[in-house]
Amino acid sequence: MAVIIDGKELAKKIRGNLKIECDELKKQGIQPKLAVIMVGDNPASKVYVRNKNKACEEIGIEYEEHLLDEHTTQKELNDLIRKLNDTKEVNGILLQSPLPEHLNINEAFKTISYQKDVDGFTPSSVGKLSIGEDTFISCTPYGVMKMLEEYNIDLTGKDVVILGRSNIVGKPLIQCCLSKNATVTVCHSKTQNIKEHTKRADVLIVAIGKAKFVTEDMVKEGAVVIDVGINRTEEGKLVGDVDFENVEKVASHITPVPGGVGPMTVAMLMNNVIKATKEQNKGH
Ligand code: NAP
Repeated sequence: MAVIIDGKELAKKIRGNLKIECDELKKQGIQPKLAVIMVGDNPASKVYVRNKNKACEEIGIEYEEHLLDEHTTQKELNDLIRKLNDTKEVNGILLQSPLPEHLNINEAFKTISYQKDVDGFTPSSVGKLSIGEDTFISCTPYGVMKMLEEYNIDLTGKDVVILGRSNIVGKPLIQCCLSKNATVTVCHSKTQNIKEHTKRADVLIVAIGKAKFVTEDMVKEGAVVIDVGINRTEEGKLVGDVDFENVEKVASHITPVPGGVGPMTVAMLMNNVIKATKEQNKGH
């Protein structure tokens, strides 16, 4: 039986430490604040945003929500971002995706000031990550790396196979794993014979959004399996991209869904808000 990587517990520990740091900042008269922008009425986004609000409350980070109408124009969205860039009281800006189709998310991300880019999606953050400079790392990949670190999983010389190449998960994971000296393979929807790749992975990270896609026969005995996927079954149950019950029998370590990567994403967002606040108040 595999070791279950408990993201819920680790995230709780991280939030506890962040609360101490946040209290320390407040003693110096500094109040960290996160501004969240949501456009339109997406039920999944509402759940994610609620979880972020809850975590802010627990740590003592001020939270402000901007709910924009689904017909909001690109100019209106960018103008709001610029206003938040200029508001001294706001330390972090998070633009909740997805956006309605008429809006260009990359244009919006480019408008967020690097100093407040707590999601790590601006070109500056992405560029810094790729050249190995200290930066805001996007929260889900950052959470995955923290989990591996906590469970003493050293990536040096390991074959890491990532399923999925999205800008928010798969691509930043490539840089994160490379920086830990792994040999990295990335698969996507056009990859031929995915099983040939997954089967030789020492560490398999799955982020494709397909319920139970990774089955036992695709995983090497003793592999570490990290499941980023969040899918809802017809019965309304949350499941990952990995067939947990069966893959658990061959893996050495595995993350559950829920209770794995999800809570870590929120914890790392909180971490980035505190980091942004500290950097903006250097020399205070
Ligand atoms: P995304 O933007 O839709 O990207 C999905 C990626 O998976 C794409 O690169 C796609 O390939 C690839 N893919 C799709 N079907 C595939 C297949 N059959 N075989 C191989 N590759 C395939 O998704 P995302 O935003 O990265 O999210 C992925 C999953 O993670 C979703 O379930 C999402 O809900 C979840 N998620 C969870 C968290 C968390 O906190 N736990 C955070 C973010 C996302 P192409 O590039 O060729 O299209």
